[in-house]
Amino acid sequence: MDGEVANRLDSVLGRIAAAAEAAGRSAADVTLIAVSKGQPEDRITDALNAGHSVYGENRVQEAQAHWQAARPRHADLELHLIGPLQTNKVRDAVALFDVIQTVDRPKLVDHLLRAFGQIGEARPCFIQVNTGEEPQKAGVLPEQADQFIEHCRTRGVPVVGAMCIPPANEAPAPHFALLGEIARRNGLAGLSMGMSHDFETAVALGATHVRVGTEVFGERAPR
Ligand SMILES: *Cc1c(COP(=O)(O)O)cnc(C)c1O
Repeated sequence: MDGEVANRLDSVLGRIAAAAEAAGRSAADVTLIAVSKGQPEDRITDALNAGHSVYGENRVQEAQAHWQAARPRHADLELHLIGPLQTNKVRDAVALFDVIQTVDRPKLVDHLLRAFGQIGEARPCFIQVNTGEEPQKAGVLPEQADQFIEHCRTRGVPVVGAMCIPPANEAPAPHFALLGEIARRNGLAGLSMGMSHDFETAVALGATHVRVGTEVFGERAPR
């Protein structure tokens, strides 16, 4: 529907600003990543027409379908990869995405560095931390995060932040606080945390990037 996505975007941005203000932070320090996975083209077009320029996708192939053609028409577009990255998709990911948020293992670091070398440019990276220590979830374990961040830095990966996806059935705040501690003690400025259901909590706990899909675009079709 005309204007629906624009209204939703306004509403989410307003809620981010209010949460930031309540926490004594500036709204300008929080970036809304509009998560466009699973969304129809017309809603994405509406968001672009509303002037929003930062988007997240969790699959490389779907992201190519959504964004490769649109990219040249939108010079200020900023695309974040927020889903698990397989090593055989690294080249395509680095070619399309501006920021890789899901760096979580040394083998991926090797492949990323090779791909950065090939395009002659590195991409800012976030380290994904599996704060809930869930076996099925990607991310480095919290107790291995410091060592892995050091490994990435030593190898020359531009690490700009930390990212987490708390367990679906737990209160998110302790996970956000843990990620904040890991970022702080490692001198990382970026904190990517908070989704549709908990982005205000994340902003209260220092998020610099919130990843919001459903609240911006409406419900996704099931996979
Ligand atoms: C899908 C997804 C989101 C957005 O989820 P919503 O609940 O729709 O806001 C955020 N982060 C990641 C990693 C995702 O895969």
